Amino acid sequence: MSIETGFGEKSSQVEALTVEQVAVSESGPAVASDARSSREAPAEGSSEKHYRRPILTLSSEELDQWLHSKGEPRFRLRQLLHWLYQQPVENFEQMSDIPKALRRELARAFRLWTTRVVEHVKADDGTEKLLVRLMDGETVECVLLRDDRGHRTACVSTQVGCAMGCKFCASGLGGFRRNLSAYEIVEQLLHLTRLLPQRERLTHIVVMGMGEPLTNLKNVLQALEAATSNNGLGISGRRVTISTVGIPPAIDRLAESRKPYHLAISLHAPNDELRTQIVPSNQKIGLKAILNAADRYFAKTGRRVTFEYVLLAGVNDRLEHAAALAELLKNRTALVNVIAYNPVPELPYQTPSPARVHRFVDKLREAGLNARVRFRKGLQIEAACGQLRRRVVAQTGSGNGGPIVGGEMSTSAPPAGPASPEASPPNQENKAAN
Ligand code: SAH
Repeated sequence: MSIETGFGEKSSQVEALTVEQVAVSESGPAVASDARSSREAPAEGSSEKHYRRPILTLSSEELDQWLHSKGEPRFRLRQLLHWLYQQPVENFEQMSDIPKALRRELARAFRLWTTRVVEHVKADDGTEKLLVRLMDGETVECVLLRDDRGHRTACVSTQVGCAMGCKFCASGLGGFRRNLSAYEIVEQLLHLTRLLPQRERLTHIVVMGMGEPLTNLKNVLQALEAATSNNGLGISGRRVTISTVGIPPAIDRLAESRKPYHLAISLHAPNDELRTQIVPSNQKIGLKAILNAADRYFAKTGRRVTFEYVLLAGVNDRLEHAAALAELLKNRTALVNVIAYNPVPELPYQTPSPARVHRFVDKLREAGLNARVRFRKGLQIEAACGQLRRRVVAQTGSGNGGPIVGGEMSTSAPPAGPASPEASPPNQENKAAN
């Protein structure tokens, strides 16, 4: 992902840090001091193999029914939803206004978290990045971005790895592993919420982490339903941006969902020849089909589409590229976000100088395009897609994000191994709250 910057807000705690690896246990979420964290332990009195359904797979109606079947009063649902989404706690025991016996029943029946934080890094610009381990031992990244307008933006992953193979991106380097389910996406939001002080809430979501959201659209939409519902996190749908490499049929499906989400399309080149070189999925699709889909999205939703353009030095950053891009997008209601490349150690691409970046944007503007530069936040913490996961996997030799020994980072994660001792995976119903 690429991250906007330009804001100087720093908490005193963050200010003291440059690139600091923060012990996960300090920050709260999903602390794992031994191989099985408290939130993952089998419920009291149950066998190791007792299956507990992830609670986020239940809709609010289903939670209501469950509470009703236990003879609970109507207001209990609101209390429970508060602890699930507004002030996510580590375990059912911490749901302080819920009767103790009910907390125990909840813990017997449901799994509160299926994921846990195994790495937590902070940059001195206030950006924080989490590496989150899933039940099958895979890991994904999510990021919290802060700015001085009070925006608290969550950037979430939608897949483990990525199949798109964009040449400059770290996410796809290890290939595609699997889609995330809706609750695994929602849990990223909840882990990020837990990084905020109690009076603050997430205000925006960018679906710009690892993976291609439009090839996992059903689960992404389900997760966003929980994120935007008043029974969930209550974030305005207009403050959600979905970034895609450009998959026309899925862009149409997204438009048909009639959600107010903002669409960002990763263009990165003004012609098919160059785009196919750096974004291989372009070969079978082509710019024309993608731009047509963008036009349909705008026509249907009335929401201006953003085009992302990552500048790679000597590849797509010449003034003639800017001129060609302006020609390609002319007569469109569009915004171009020009992003300086965030270098990935294993890859040969370089970041152009700031002067070159500005020249490129100026050229777009001269040609009448609405364009802006987005600088990168969290550079020190490898905030580009997939970078943190990639390094942890390289150092541990697994996708498990186990401890890094002798590296610059430390972790309170348990030894590598599946995150969950439970036998059966959760079903994939993914009925997040609605
Ligand atoms: N697959 C989706 C969303 C994930 S990537 C997409 O392609 O849009 C989100 C954005 O970050 C994309 O524009 C992607 O091209 C860009 N990106 C990936 N790696 C980057 C890097 N190292 N530096 C800057 N931007 C990067």
